Amino acid sequence: MKIEYDRDTCIGMFQCVDEWEKFEKNLDEGKADLAGAEEVEEDVFVLEVPEGEELDAEFAARVCPVDAITLYDDDGEQIVP
Ligand code: SF4
Repeated sequence: MKIEYDRDTCIGMFQCVDEWEKFEKNLDEGKADLAGAEEVEEDVFVLEVPEGEELDAEFAARVCPVDAITLYDDDGEQIVP
C-alpha cells in the first residue's frame, strides 16, 4: 500500500495526526508532515505504508476534510478517497 500526501492542499486541521503517528503536526507552517516520505514533486510526498499500519493510514486518509491524502493498494488502484 502506498500513501500520497498533497501538502499544498493540507489546511492543517490535524485530524490525520490523531489517526496515524506518521502524520506529525507542523505548527510553524500550519501543515502536517508525513514522516519518512519522499517528495516526488513539489509539496507531494509518497510513502510505502509499513506492514501493520495499513488501517491507521486508511483512517488518516478518510478523515482528511480536503482529501489531501490518497491511498493506493499494491496494484496501484486508488482506495481512498
Ligand atoms: S487531515 Fe488533511 S488537512 Fe488536516 S492536517 Fe491532515 S492532511 Fe492536513
